Amino acid sequence: MVSQDKVAPDLSAAIARLGEMIHEAGNIVPFTGAGISTECGIPDFRSPGGLWTKNRPIPFDEFLASQEARNESWRRRFAMMDEFGGAKPGRGHRALASLYRAGKVPGVVTQNIDNLHQASGFAAEHVIELHGNTTYAHCLDCGTDYTLAWVRERMDAGNGCAPDCPSCGGFIKTATISFGQAMPEAAMRRAEELTVGCDLFLAIGSSLQVWPAAGFPLMAKRNGARLVIINREPTDFDAAADLVVHQDIGTVLEPFIVH
Ligand code: NAD
Ligand code: ZN
Repeated sequence: MVSQDKVAPDLSAAIARLGEMIHEAGNIVPFTGAGISTECGIPDFRSPGGLWTKNRPIPFDEFLASQEARNESWRRRFAMMDEFGGAKPGRGHRALASLYRAGKVPGVVTQNIDNLHQASGFAAEHVIELHGNTTYAHCLDCGTDYTLAWVRERMDAGNGCAPDCPSCGGFIKTATISFGQAMPEAAMRRAEELTVGCDLFLAIGSSLQVWPAAGFPLMAKRNGARLVIINREPTDFDAAADLVVHQDIGTVLEPFIVH
């Protein structure tokens, strides 16, 4: 059970307590999941009706093993692009960007692949993407980047067959990390540095069920930071947090937007 004094009783108490904690902190690291982007129209995985319920993710070994899996993976990507391609940063993204501009946040660690932290004003080098980025593609062998538009054109011209890299013949995949694919080492290292260096860690909109990403909140806590969890649903880490807010992210973070 989570002790009741840690769960904010209502929205205004949550905002007030969070405001105090932000004020008292010198180095804040936000850690975000799909929940920060749902108000932008991008569904999360694990909420009812989330992406998980519609499409089983294609594991990395299947992507490598079968042309049909690559075709299917790209078909889904383009269907997603048509649905969510125009998504703009939400209130949560804008509040975090305000704290970043104020010099309180050195960088954001995110599980999201939607590029919305960059779009809200974070410099690309200050967005630590644990699961990559879906807004461009690259060759898995030589690393050459490709635009999604290029892949789409080639697929359309090739009867729906996902193209291989023209320079080396390698497979081309969105720059995301699939289940079963190795975590990006540099991003993991940077996330760890930020996590152990902060005095306030904000876990926002993550079910904290995907590992190893889910390990960062506890790592922060063990290194002496205060831990805040903002998520509509309870998580397994609520008991370890100093403040738990089971409310809508945009509503909780809106007061921290500085225009
Ligand atoms: P998740 O789907 O497992 O959990 C999202 C959590 O956010 C849920 O617990 C839900 O209750 C909560 N939530 C949703 N909307 C909310 C709101 N408005 N206010 C408060 N809480 C809200 O997401 P995850 O933990 O990020 O893990 C899913 C994986 O899927 C990630 O690794 C990520 O790479 C990927 N993903 C990314 C995106 C994206 O980039 N936007 C979208 C879907 C999935
Ligand atoms: Zn290549």
